[in-house]
Amino acid sequence: MGSDMELPVALLQSLEGVPGFHRETFEAVHRSGEQVTSVRVNPAKAALLAAGIESYTISLPISGKIPWTENGYYLKERPFFTFDPLLHAGAYYVQEASSMFVEQAMRQTLDLNQKLRVLDGCAAPGGKSTHLQSLISSDSLLVSNEVIKTRASILEENLVKWGGTNVIVTNNDPSDFTSLPNFFDVMLIDAPCSGSGLFRREPEAIAEWSPHAVQLCSQRQQRILADYYPALAEGGTLIYSTCSYSREEDEQIIDWLMQTFDLESLPLQLEDDWGIVEVQSPGSKGYGYRFFPDQLRGEGFFLAAFRKKDGDAFHYRTSRKPKLQKASKTETAAVMPWLREDAGVHLWKQQEQILAFPALLEQELQVVADNLYLRHAGITVGKLAGTQLVPDHSLAMSTLLAPATVAVSLKKEDALQYLRKEQVILTDAPTGWALVKYEDLPLGWVKILPNRVNNYYPSNWRILKSGSN
Ligand code: SAM
Repeated sequence: MGSDMELPVALLQSLEGVPGFHRETFEAVHRSGEQVTSVRVNPAKAALLAAGIESYTISLPISGKIPWTENGYYLKERPFFTFDPLLHAGAYYVQEASSMFVEQAMRQTLDLNQKLRVLDGCAAPGGKSTHLQSLISSDSLLVSNEVIKTRASILEENLVKWGGTNVIVTNNDPSDFTSLPNFFDVMLIDAPCSGSGLFRREPEAIAEWSPHAVQLCSQRQQRILADYYPALAEGGTLIYSTCSYSREEDEQIIDWLMQTFDLESLPLQLEDDWGIVEVQSPGSKGYGYRFFPDQLRGEGFFLAAFRKKDGDAFHYRTSRKPKLQKASKTETAAVMPWLREDAGVHLWKQQEQILAFPALLEQELQVVADNLYLRHAGITVGKLAGTQLVPDHSLAMSTLLAPATVAVSLKKEDALQYLRKEQVILTDAPTGWALVKYEDLPLGWVKILPNRVNNYYPSNWRILKSGSN
């Protein structure tokens, strides 16, 4: 399949001299129209499937592994993901392969068994946040921040489906993080950029590109980095990435960072057959890693990692008026039977909702709640109506549920009907709350009444498209 894709001449000219840039093959791969589709499997959910990763082949045409990541797979073709109930169950995330290289930056610069406080500063729609959540330990914290409100709600949806208990979604301006000096051990800034790396996949974005847009993006990247930087602790890791090929947004940002702050550039080990190009910035000789679609199976991407040498450790200050309160004894008693005995969480009250958060991260939760706008924290367990819990969708997506929770398994057609928030018919099921499952994975809640079944799938997440494949 070919296309008439014309890349901007000014872009091609600006890339002359960039190591690894070969104009002919670069243009050819864009003209070819070839599409690479890949997914990253959620290890926490794969563990719930009786056949483990093998179960994924039911719905996904897996063709091979992505070499720089443990749970990433290439697909032979792009299926209609919307009609795969496993996607809605958070079993995998559809993500471009090159961006999964973030895993190498994490594994090679950090001890991932340690308790870490991680910030994803430009997080929506959540590709890298879901990845970070799978990489860190269960006593580590991930704060996923997205400044744009509508995008923060997509981020929340994807993270709720992913099901991690140790995640907080915030909707703040980067400058708000100055109230958390030295708090984070790791900071990922996957900055908004001019987007040239995605031209093969999204040719319509070509029209938006201009040398002026590259300049504006470069300035914005500096502002975002400068705003977030004080929240990184001494010795912390900063990972910076873009999906732009332009030196102004890549090498020049490395130079700017190293000239402005006290940072050490961290080289990463590459395998020869990965096809990734290592570069060094012209001024400070900081390392960067660039991905060209004519040299590997993935889109354009750039990443650089640093260690912060200045700053300090974080000092806790307890707030006199904490924003979150612990759940009462009665509330706790109503909720506990729904949770696994070894859930290891504390219960908190956020307005009407009760939420569960890892007990080992109590202090961190309070600090974040006192300083930022919490869009979602941990697992929303539900609301109490008297002493009865109305369970939340977030609880169904979590790994906290008691093994004895009543569950009904659905075939694909019925699962899709449920995900459209239509009537589902369940015979022989006991009345009361029940989980609906597909291939061992929960899809959400129903309430079974003597004469009908109420579908509790979140209205705004329901499948709107008709069809089934
Ligand atoms: N990391 C995401 C992922 O892997 O799914 C993609 C992030 S995207 C490249 C950049 C994000 O930065 C967008 O969600 C955008 O809304 C956000 N953004 C835009 N302007 C921003 C700003 N001034 N400060 C912080 N974030 C911004």
